[in-house]
Amino acid sequence: MKCRYCSREAIEIINGKAYCEEHFSKYFLGKVRSIIDKFNIKGEIAVALSGGKDSAACLHALHSMGMEVKPFYINLRIPSYSEACEKKAAQLCDMLGYEMKVIDVAEYGISLEKERKPCSTCGTVKRYLMNKFAFDEKCTCVATGHNLSDAVTFAFNNLANVNILNFRGNKPYLEGKEEYRMVAKVKPLYWLKDKECMLYTIINNLPFAEEECPYSINAPTLKIKDWLHALEGEWPNIMVNLAKSFWRLEEMMEKETNINICKKCGFASYGSICKFCKIRAKMEKQEK
Ligand code: SF4
Ligand code: ZN
Ligand code: ZN
Repeated sequence: MKCRYCSREAIEIINGKAYCEEHFSKYFLGKVRSIIDKFNIKGEIAVALSGGKDSAACLHALHSMGMEVKPFYINLRIPSYSEACEKKAAQLCDMLGYEMKVIDVAEYGISLEKERKPCSTCGTVKRYLMNKFAFDEKCTCVATGHNLSDAVTFAFNNLANVNILNFRGNKPYLEGKEEYRMVAKVKPLYWLKDKECMLYTIINNLPFAEEECPYSINAPTLKIKDWLHALEGEWPNIMVNLAKSFWRLEEMMEKETNINICKKCGFASYGSICKFCKIRAKMEKQEK
């Protein structure tokens, strides 16, 4: 099949349109650009790298667009997995000419090993440390590699668990709040599906870890994602429509949530002590 925009061979079909390599890259960067422009993102962006394909694509796209970026990696100390991911993230930074900052959770006395729900603890720890890094480095926002497939999967998973309070983070952009030391968050890949991010990573020869986190085995989110992709095959654009609906719902809910300042660390919290400080206190106790 030929590309819709030139005479070259197509490598991907998106919503019925065929794209060659060059026009696919233009499509991809155009989607990233639409987020950057809509939310007027400028200044230095702290880019969270996980070692995986999405954050690699995110850093590369922002770099190609000439944005000012500061990549960093959070080492979660997950045996064998974290080391492999750090290596790939460092290779990517070398390739693009950046120095990569590494944050080690062990420095905060944190380990996921004994956690009953490691993913929940991991999520809190990552969100906290990403924000702290961007705040300390005086970056204007934090960018993560979350894509469309992740956003819709995350929302469905919360619905499936009656986890309405956690039903946040569906939007491509979350404004910062200086008085709460909250730095703005952006998801530049918000309109791009898993498969498109993988293709962009491959086209640009970006290093990424193929290992899966050992805690993700049998995760219900993997099944939800497969189901959504199958649905998308029969109903093009359903994921975009779902994401827009979840985004609106989140906006309606936001008006009702109160933010405080954590008494221990001074960062934002929904209670008097933030979840990160609670995790640290619990782990300190376990140590004794
Ligand atoms: Fe963290 Fe691994 Fe769970 Fe992902 S799968 S949230 S990296 S523990
Ligand atoms: Zn083309
Ligand atoms: Zn705190």
